[in-house]
Amino acid sequence: MTAALLSVLAACSSSSRAVRPAVAPVPESSGASSAGRRPIGPTPAHIGPLDARVTVDDLDALWERQLMVPVEGIPRWAIRDNYTAKRAAGIHRALDILAPRYTAVVASDDLVIGRLFSGPVGGIVIYASDPEQRFVYYYAHLERYRTGLAVGDRVAKGSVIGYVGTTGNAPPDTPHLHFQVMKRAVGRAWWDGPAINPFSFFALDALRP
Ligand SMILES: [Zn+2]
Repeated sequence: MTAALLSVLAACSSSSRAVRPAVAPVPESSGASSAGRRPIGPTPAHIGPLDARVTVDDLDALWERQLMVPVEGIPRWAIRDNYTAKRAAGIHRALDILAPRYTAVVASDDLVIGRLFSGPVGGIVIYASDPEQRFVYYYAHLERYRTGLAVGDRVAKGSVIGYVGTTGNAPPDTPHLHFQVMKRAVGRAWWDGPAINPFSFFALDALRP
C-alpha cells in the first residue's frame, strides 16, 4: 500500500462510535475454561494484542466460523492487515478492503441482520451477527444495501448484502469496505463489543464475480 493511499485512508473512521448511546459496562463471560487447552485457530501470538474481554475460546469459535472474505472477487492474499493503523478517531481496529465502487459486499458468515444505519462516519452500514450471536460483523461505507435487505433477515455466507462505496467519511476517490469483527456485547449496545482482528481468520476466498 502506498503512502498516498495510507494518507487518504487515514481519514477513514473505525466506527459510528460517536453516535452510540452511552451505556454502563457489562460483565463479559470468563475465559478461565480455556486455560491449558490447545487452541485450534489463530492465537494472540498470531494476531497481536487482544482486548482483555476476548478469550482464547472466542478465537477458536471465530476460527470455526470459517469466515469468507466479504468483498466479491477478493482473494485472501490481496488483503492488507491495517487493523492497527492510526486513524483520525484512534486505532483502526478493522480492515479496509479496497475494491471498485459497486463491487458486491458478501456475507462473511451466515448472518442475522441486526441493525441498518446511516451516519456521517461509517456512512451506510450493516451490523449483523452469526447465528449463535457470539460475534458482530460491521460493514461500513457501503454505496447501498442489496435491494430489500431488512433487519431480521437471515443471510447465507457468500450472499450479496450490499455494494462497496464511499459513504460516511471514506475518501471519495478510494472506495473500500471497512470490515470489523467484534465479540457481541451483552446489553443494549450489543454492537459495541471488543474488536478482534479478522485478518488471520479468513478461511475462504470471496466468491468470483
Ligand atoms: Zn476503515
